[in-house]
Amino acid sequence: MLIDFHVHLAGNGCCQSGIILGKKFERRPTFFLLKKMQKITKEQLVTDIDLLWIRRISNFIENSQYISKAVTLCLDSIYNENGKELEDYIQMYIPNSWGCEVKKKFPKTLDFGASIHPYRKDSLQELEYCYKEKAFLVKWLPSMMGIDPENPLCFPFYEALRALNIPLLSHTDTEHTFALPVKKWGEYNHISKLKKPLEMGVTVIAAHAGTPTQLSETEELVNQYENFFLDTSGLFNPTRARSALKLFAKSKNTVLRERLLFATDWPVPAIPHLIIDKLGFNAFKTLQQITNPFEKDLKIKEYLGFNLADFKKNQDSLLTLLGRSLTEVNLT
Ligand SMILES: [Zn+2]
Repeated sequence: MLIDFHVHLAGNGCCQSGIILGKKFERRPTFFLLKKMQKITKEQLVTDIDLLWIRRISNFIENSQYISKAVTLCLDSIYNENGKELEDYIQMYIPNSWGCEVKKKFPKTLDFGASIHPYRKDSLQELEYCYKEKAFLVKWLPSMMGIDPENPLCFPFYEALRALNIPLLSHTDTEHTFALPVKKWGEYNHISKLKKPLEMGVTVIAAHAGTPTQLSETEELVNQYENFFLDTSGLFNPTRARSALKLFAKSKNTVLRERLLFATDWPVPAIPHLIIDKLGFNAFKTLQQITNPFEKDLKIKEYLGFNLADFKKNQDSLLTLLGRSLTEVNLT
């Protein structure tokens, strides 16, 4: 059975979750699209969106034959280099306390993906707390959170991650869901910036595998570091679909084959229309009949030459590297 390493929590704090939905994000087209796709009503936004969201993910996983766990991701606030929180920049804030709560509510299907800004003065204490609560990983979205992975302020955090053997899942390349609060921050998503934590011995997972524009750097780093994995989340949307084809083609005869992990980026949808020329009409028709979005994503990847067994093998190597047994992650 597979773990989905990249699934988003969301909400607006209606159910004492502590989630903050920023006004800036509420005005973005992606927010409207999300509401429409997920069929979220006005009433639900007031009454129970936070809970409805996690129930929805849990149900999909519960009803899946192949995917047994989703790592659901928190999203920390934004801090400057002096450790001051920049509340005005918040588009979405999902506290680690909610991530823990989610895992407690759905221990069979949902796991805790923490998020900690390394410039926070209490970042190491927060990491300790998340470790005690058995966080599966720590997630960053550098361009939106204002984290430069090469900034020395991150180094003590890397040391702690390595010591506790917690992987870092960091977004790579372009970002469209959230606005860029500061133009320069766009550079922070460059995959080559992950060289520093890799060098320091942290297990790193590059979200979106360096698509759409950083595939050659990705390959270089994978060749260099055994502690480097790539998640295959959010690949079948207009910005990444064509480069996803390249990624899977490359993975047929390179070391990339040993590093790709299963991940969806739910609620970001997988749109097979974008690669119908590659899939063929019959495959496309089969995909249209799959109602579980997690299974649909897996099936597309299978058509592109990467099946469940391939993902499982890489998942096992990651878990071995992290010293985690299958019973510990509740996959048996
Ligand atoms: Zn994502």
